[in-house]
Amino acid sequence: MAIHITTPTVESDAFSTPDQRVWLKLEALQPCGSFKLRGIGHACEVHASRGATRLLSSSGGNAGIAVAYAGRRLGLPVVVVVPETTREWPKTLIRRQGAEVVVHGKSWMEANDHLMSLRQPTDAFIHPFDDPLLWDGHAPMIAEAATQAPKPDAVVLSVGGGGLMSGVLQGMHAAGWQDVPLVAAETVGAHSLNAAIAAGELVTLDAITSLATSLGARRVSEQAFAWTRRHAVTATTVTDAEAVQACLDVAKEHRVIVEPACGAAVAATLKREVPALQKARNVLVILCGGACATYEDLIDWRTAS
Ligand SMILES: *Cc1c(COP(=O)(O)O)cnc(C)c1O
Repeated sequence: MAIHITTPTVESDAFSTPDQRVWLKLEALQPCGSFKLRGIGHACEVHASRGATRLLSSSGGNAGIAVAYAGRRLGLPVVVVVPETTREWPKTLIRRQGAEVVVHGKSWMEANDHLMSLRQPTDAFIHPFDDPLLWDGHAPMIAEAATQAPKPDAVVLSVGGGGLMSGVLQGMHAAGWQDVPLVAAETVGAHSLNAAIAAGELVTLDAITSLATSLGARRVSEQAFAWTRRHAVTATTVTDAEAVQACLDVAKEHRVIVEPACGAAVAATLKREVPALQKARNVLVILCGGACATYEDLIDWRTAS
């Protein structure tokens, strides 16, 4: 049995207008709260079938939570090394799955280096966004959506390192949606795809200054950037305040809590500034979810941002 679940696609009366229907792919309903379980569940299963005896992650966010969940389902031990800056709540969620959390170093780089020093030959390291196994696992969410909603005139999603984007585009091409434009949303301060498209080459941001930490890859993957040359992709940014407000709108209207990383895609949809969105009759938004923000966090961030 697959580690992830089939999620519903719902028509949002609240976010639609008389001229545009907005459909939400509710990846927030995956057992550990985000789409990441699709790709990571698939990657962990493949590694287990090849004989991996332990799963490793250096993500203190949804990727680490998904590896922990997948490891428990597969009966494999999991070690997640996170930097000192990681908040308590994600660590609690990782430990709840029975995984070992090791806190090491001041930055993700130091945590990742420490993880690599622990690595044994039969360990599988699970990357959060840059691995074809992840894209293969994410892609079928589009085949699913194709049976649940009309073919959209635009798809909207959030971009961190670009794993979701690479998988969704792979799925769109497999479903015959290669003519459907993609709107890729980031928050200001986590805008590594927007920066790469503007520069015409991959760019490494100096720092992540957005509170949407799940979008906090300083550089997108080669694969995500390559897709922007093969498909109509419009990158757009929203502010943290817009992303947080969109989370509160999702909570109020759809009774689902998501992270600002996910709110970014909803905010970009509701702004309707991107030309591809202005003329779209049907828009499919990937509500990618995220378990690391609580309802209280959203309220605090609204006041702060
Ligand atoms: C990981 C994540 C993203 C970004 O996905 P990438 O594959 O890194 O682009 C967006 N939202 C949430 C909630 C995430 O966990």
